[in-house]
Amino acid sequence: MGPLTSQTLWSKRDAIDYSLKRRAALVSLFKGTTSALDACNADPYLLRAAKYHGEAVERLCPVCRKAKMFELRYAFGDQLGQYSGRIKTAQELAEMQSEYGEFRVYIVEVCMECGWHHLIYSYKLGDGKYRKPPRKVRTLEDEDYA
Ligand SMILES: [Zn+2]
Repeated sequence: MGPLTSQTLWSKRDAIDYSLKRRAALVSLFKGTTSALDACNADPYLLRAAKYHGEAVERLCPVCRKAKMFELRYAFGDQLGQYSGRIKTAQELAEMQSEYGEFRVYIVEVCMECGWHHLIYSYKLGDGKYRKPPRKVRTLEDEDYA
């Protein structure tokens, strides 16, 4: 155990590693079973999200090998209510652990260069105490994405 920093994911559990699926997707891409158009089809919204909210990682893109990738973290869960499916920073996720009983984080890698994107990892967070989802309120953000 490292030092308990504000970003420690102390409630992390039920992790799923998608590297086999990712490798299968890459193999079928390189064999030509899947076209680059299908595999590297990050839409403009995803690319924009990666640019503004993504965390740059050191790995090179496995497809174009030109660019380092960005990782996005999405939080999903019934207890998040309308906030389910939003992009969260590592700091926000660390704070949410004691605000929600259970939610799942999905980490997606995105290449800004060629548009490759794939789910790489997911895990559950939360303190295990059930909470009712927050009441639905209309926010400016809803207007943006409506
Ligand atoms: Zn790429």
